[in-house]
Amino acid sequence: MRILLAEDDQMLSKGIHLALSQNGYLVDQVKTGPDADNALTVTPYDLVILDLGLPDLDGLEVLTRLRQRGQPTPVVILTARDGVKDRITGLDLGANDYMTKPFHLDELEARIRALLRKGNWSNQTDIKYNGFAYDIVGRRLAVHGQPVDLSAREVAVLELLLQKVGKVVNKQQITEHLSNWESSISFNAIEIIVHRLRKKLEGSGINIRTIRGLGYILEPPATATGTATAPETAPETATVTPQPEQ
Ligand code: CA
Repeated sequence: MRILLAEDDQMLSKGIHLALSQNGYLVDQVKTGPDADNALTVTPYDLVILDLGLPDLDGLEVLTRLRQRGQPTPVVILTARDGVKDRITGLDLGANDYMTKPFHLDELEARIRALLRKGNWSNQTDIKYNGFAYDIVGRRLAVHGQPVDLSAREVAVLELLLQKVGKVVNKQQITEHLSNWESSISFNAIEIIVHRLRKKLEGSGINIRTIRGLGYILEPPATATGTATAPETAPETATVTPQPEQ
């Protein structure tokens, strides 16, 4: 998961960056409005944390431009305690959530998790196929009920493939998903991660097929009755339908 953090308060930015990095998110930091606007134009982010009081270009203007470009990227705005008007304007302009400073990092993380779940998983909380069970909330994998340890990068690749079951995910998409400004990942490294992931998924019925020259497809077991559970309050219950074997 790649997040853009646009915040000019150094201390706060550092704290958020540290907390999110420790939880396996890749975070790019910018300190001005124009830098945020540029980054959002060129990089596909999973989420944006946007301070409204940014130098040179207001956070609300960054948000306006983002939505004008038709980008649906979830946005959490950061506002001052007395910024009620800003919060309302921000939500009206297409922000998905807001945090009032000062806030607890734990709460910011929980809100980020909820937004990412909504955006990438249609509010599902887990995915099950035969011997395969992935807990989206806790980001934990179990094969035939046995927990399987995954590295942060393995989690990232598995999630990306699970979000596009039965569809080709190319290496460039994986690279963009797993790189940030501080570290980029090579195609070779991706092959190694997929190789390890395949080994860990052995016996689960889930297959990661290589499509030469194109990328990878995650294939659920052909005989499985794939189910995905969503909270009962969710209006649109998402279902993962296993693709028949070609
Ligand atoms: Ca600020």
